[in-house]
Parts: sequence; C-alpha cells; structure tokens
Amino acid sequence: MKTDVLIVGCGCSGLYAALNMPENVKITIITKSDFESSDSFLAQGGICMLKNDDDYKSYFEDTMKAGHYENDKKSVEIMIRSSQEVIRKLIRYGVEFKRDENGNLEFTREGAHSDKRILFHEDITGKEITSHLLEAVKKLNNVELLEYTTLLDIVEEDGECKGAVIRKEDGALEVINANCVFLACGGIGGLYKHSTNFKHLTGDGVAIAIRHGIKLKDINYVQIHPTTFYTANDEDRSFLISESVRGEGALLRDKNGNRFVNELLPRDLLTQAIHAQMKKDHTEFVWEDLRTIPEDELKVHFPNIVAHCMEMGFDPTKECIPVVPAQHYFMGGIWVNHESHTSMKRLYAIGETACNGVHGRNRLASNSLLESLVFAERAANDSMKYMDNTKEQRLEVELNEYYDSSRLEDIYKNSVRKEIEKADIAMTATA
Ligand SMILES: Cc1cc2nc3c(=O)[nH]c(=O)nc-3n(C[C@H](O)[C@H](O)[C@H](O)COP(=O)(O)OP(=O)(O)OC[C@H]3O[C@@H](n4cnc5c(N)ncnc54)[C@H](O)[C@@H]3O)c2cc1C
Repeated sequence: MKTDVLIVGCGCSGLYAALNMPENVKITIITKSDFESSDSFLAQGGICMLKNDDDYKSYFEDTMKAGHYENDKKSVEIMIRSSQEVIRKLIRYGVEFKRDENGNLEFTREGAHSDKRILFHEDITGKEITSHLLEAVKKLNNVELLEYTTLLDIVEEDGECKGAVIRKEDGALEVINANCVFLACGGIGGLYKHSTNFKHLTGDGVAIAIRHGIKLKDINYVQIHPTTFYTANDEDRSFLISESVRGEGALLRDKNGNRFVNELLPRDLLTQAIHAQMKKDHTEFVWEDLRTIPEDELKVHFPNIVAHCMEMGFDPTKECIPVVPAQHYFMGGIWVNHESHTSMKRLYAIGETACNGVHGRNRLASNSLLESLVFAERAANDSMKYMDNTKEQRLEVELNEYYDSSRLEDIYKNSVRKEIEKADIAMTATA
C-alpha cells in the first residue's frame, strides 16, 4: 500500500492536519477505534482565543504561570497569535460557539485564567468542533479513512521514517509506504486506572518513539484533573466535571460542607489541595457545590454534566456532587520543533502525543484543543517538503513480531510506564 501521508489518529489534530493539506496529496487516516472515540470528542469546557491585543500579555502570562514558567515561550507565542485565525476557520467549517443576543462571540472562564477568553458550545465543545472537522474530511476525495486500524510500528530506513506497519479491521497486517507519517495518537490515559481519557489511548506513538530512539520531552509531566465525578466502580472512564463549572462559581467543600481552597487555582495545585483534604477527612472524594450557579444557567451551559449527575443519582441543582482527581492530560510526549517535526526525518507528531513545550509543567485549561489545531496546521504545511518523493519503494519488513498483538501491547504500555518512572526518579533526585 502506498500513500503520500499516513495520519495515525482521527482526533482534532489528525483531522485538522488533513484539512490543511492540498487536495492533490493522497492521505490515509487510520484510527484504532471508531471515528468518534477520541478524546477530542470529550472536550467539554472550550477552546481559548486571544480576544484582542490588550489580552495578549495576560493570556501569555496565565499560560506561563500555569506551566510553572517551564513553557517554550516561542510555542506559546505561536499558539496565542494563531488562535483567531484557527477560530475563523472552525466557524467556516460550521462550528457554532455561544453568542450573545447581538451575535457576538461569548467567552467563559476557567481556573487559572485571569479573564474570560474561552469559547464554548454548551459543555460539548470538543464534539461540536471535531464532528465538523470529521464531516469536512469525509467530503475530501483525496482522503481514505480507516476505522479499527492500528499502527503497530513505523518503518525506519537509514534513520528516516519510510512508512508503517498496521493491523487492519480484519486482523491482517499491512506495510504502508508513505512519504511521511503523522503521529496524532492522543494521550496516555489508558495506562492509568482512573482517567478521563478513552481506555484505548495508551501512548502507542510514544512507545514507538521509545523503540526507535526518537527524542522525548517532559515525559513525566502528566496532568491530574482535580474534579471528576466520583464512582466506586474502577472500570468506568472518569467523567469530567469541567473547570468552567468552577469558573462560573461552583465551590468545593469538605466532608462538613466547608470551603477549603481557592477553586480557581491551577489544576496541579488544586489537585494537591483536594488530596490533602481527602487525607485529612479520611474520604475518597470531596464535594462540589454547583448550586451557586443559577439553575437556568447551569442547565443551559452544562446540560451534559447535569444529565450525567442525574444519571448517577445526584441532582446538582439541589445537592453537592462527589468529585475526585483523575489522570487527564499529557503535557510531555514526543519532542517536536515548532513545525511539529520529530527528531526523525519524515516523522511528525501532533496533538497530545507531541511535546513542543507549550504547556510547560502544567496545562492551562482549554489550551489543548487550540494547541492541537495550531501545530497540526504547521506540520501539514511543513510536510509538503517531502512530497517530491512519490516513487514507490519496496519496504522490507519482517512481520513475525507483530502477529501477537496483546504481547506487543503489553511491551508498549510497559515501555511508556518505565520511561515515565525513570524521568520521575531523575526529577526527584535533582529536586
Ligand atoms: C474529558 C476531557 C475533557 C477535555 N476538555 C478539554 C477542553 O475543554 N478544552 C481543551 O482544550 N482540551 C480539553 N481536553 C483535552 C483535549 O480534548 C485533547 O488534548 C485533544 O482533543 C487531543 O487531541 P488529539 O488529536 O491529540 O487526540 P485524540 O482526540 O485523543 O485522538 C487520538 C486518536 O488516535 C487514535 N490512536 C491512538 N493510538 C493509535 C494507534 N496505535 N493506531 C491507530 N490509531 C490510534 C485514536 O483512536 C484517536 O482517533 C479534554 C480531554 C478530556 C479527556
């Protein structure tokens, strides 16, 4: 099989990369699951946008401060400066954001933002964005979309990425020859017992990078979200109670119903405070009080969250709901430059799999959809330099080691876990 660009993953980053390539480029997009099972569909709170030049300094500072000033400043600048154009494009694809009665975009706020600068669509902003991107990609004649098709490895020749080994829906293995490959495989939540992520997102791109000695960055920078709905059932994916609920006034309470923290602290600091309170109270959760938000607003802005709470037997308009921190986001990943190129020629990494340093040690809320889109577009543009080599090349790949898929899966999961542990130990030693 030959394609010009192989994109692994059909979350917002993979789809947006495809939409930003010329229509004479043959693109193959694969996804391990169905088209809609990506974290991009789960994003609730919203997507940041630079409101006006006056907000630049403050938006930049909020991002840096949340990231403990370990962010790559150039990446932050690129992301913020590109935000208005990305939003314009999303609107052209049919994405609808909340508007006021005069038709102007309305903004909300989340923790650690010093101003309202987040666009949203109820509490299903990710679904609104990603479903429109998917619809647009499906209309393109140059794109082939394959569901239930898994990347098992990349093919490396002379230090360059020449293609990939995939397992198709019917279980057959296939080698794809590609001018370049995009890893858009999302986060690593599937490695954790409690996570807001889809379980099949197990950091495959990172594992493959480790296997090929591709450079990584901040691999142990993993964000724990302070507020997910508490359930005693470990099998469930943790349901997020978006930060914008707190941005709109929700409060956190201890076992006696008293406030114990500033609810708008950055995520890592708030998580620490909640864990400390749980320890002190000998509880498995703390309470979140959504009754501070006017009932109409709660139901209109957060219908999905209200519905989930009701389903779990809690009426958030009348009582507090139990919340607990859970793994949520991966700030680290495969090192990339500002064009999202990895340390291996012809290999790009975009979205949550990649690390361009934009988030530093801790991501500011609602920066990840934006970052994914901005850098996916840059990667798409940059990758066109590899489109000269369209000649079919036969790739010699020994397939034996790929037949036992569960063995390979375990090897990959363990290699990512080990790398995170190693980085944690090294960080503790130098602290
Ligand atoms: C509950 C929740 C709420 C969130 N809310 C917000 C928010 O309000 N604002 C915000 O900015 N961000 C939010 N985020 C984060 C944001 O949604 C993600 O960071 C972003 O969508 C990641 O996009 P992506 O394209 O990198 O990956 P994803 O959208 O996760 O897509 C990954 C894709 O890779 C595929 N894949 C993985 N491995 C393989 C493989 N081996 N072979 C083939 N395919 C593979 C998957 O099947 C999937 O299609 C939220 C995340 C969660 C989980």
